[in-house]
Amino acid sequence: MVDDIYRLKASIALVYNDNVLDIFLSNKREQFKITIDYEQIVELLFSFDGDKTVGDILGIYKNIDSDDLFDLILFFLKKNVLIKVDCKYPETFVSEQYRLINFFEDYCSSTSDVISSLKLISTSKIMIVGIGAVGTWVSESLIRTGLKNITLVDDDTVEISNLHRQGMFFIDDVGKFKVDVLSENLCNISSGVKVIKIKDKLTPDFFSKYDDKYDLIINCADKPSVDETTRIIARFCMEHKIPHIVGGGYNLHLTLIGQTIIPNRTACVMCFEKHLQKINNADLDGVKKLTRKNRKIGSFSPLSTIAASLAAIDAIKIVSGKYDYISNSNSRIEFDVRERDINKHFVEKNENCDWCGNNGLYN
Ligand SMILES: [Zn+2]
Repeated sequence: MVDDIYRLKASIALVYNDNVLDIFLSNKREQFKITIDYEQIVELLFSFDGDKTVGDILGIYKNIDSDDLFDLILFFLKKNVLIKVDCKYPETFVSEQYRLINFFEDYCSSTSDVISSLKLISTSKIMIVGIGAVGTWVSESLIRTGLKNITLVDDDTVEISNLHRQGMFFIDDVGKFKVDVLSENLCNISSGVKVIKIKDKLTPDFFSKYDDKYDLIINCADKPSVDETTRIIARFCMEHKIPHIVGGGYNLHLTLIGQTIIPNRTACVMCFEKHLQKINNADLDGVKKLTRKNRKIGSFSPLSTIAASLAAIDAIKIVSGKYDYISNSNSRIEFDVRERDINKHFVEKNENCDWCGNNGLYN
């Protein structure tokens, strides 16, 4: 360990008083205290500057026992206060993306882990089906976070009525194909972005025409219905073991947050369908079914961006390999804009599921 280099994370603040060290993790808004009888503890932690080795620090603080320092380092690594500096970030990387790096450091144990996570994002391939009120914002978030390979699927043109809730479309774009407009704007965010544009409908034979190796597919399409588009995508993804996100939508004043599905690891689309059917049947017992074709549900961009952001957060966790941090799986999540509450309804993976169960079609 004496040759190792560590750095106090940039988001950490420290206060020492009466043998108590207060540690604030600003990124996570968390705080914890430790009792430690060492007046120079703050100075010592700041000496982990990403340049000095542990041996150098032991040379400066001669009153510290090396085993005590090693224990302290291990403790602060576990608590996300220190990060191991096992490689230097390229200078342009730091100057252009220091806030992104700072964010990823909270989920990584070393600088090489940060670099490899960001590399995984940049080299992964994500397909977004439907670039409307959710799909446009999801695409933009992912490209700004470092995704370079994106496939956009939509056969619609931009309409004036899209502009109040869909991202990256402007008055001059009305009448142009959505995939063309969005693709051009995404390529202007960062260099090296490659967009595959598919101007086609999501029909049941869609993937026989556009079969490719995707790391993630996000469904943001609601035509002919969210249920239908979700099922087409989920079938293909379950068969090929591709993680997929059902990109959310609206239900009156509620925003439905899309479910994240990792094949054979989390509840699948069919687990959700069966579970929700049971609840809906109980809720609607004795209630006459209401029908209204082509119902248009109200929406505005603050709502669609919430659904899009939460889908994009899980998308980043999936493609960077941080599966343990995924938050929208095994749950049906609704954001209530009136009450500003997020309601989570747990849906477990069903061992009798026709798709992912023990004897399921895709197990
Ligand atoms: Zn299932």
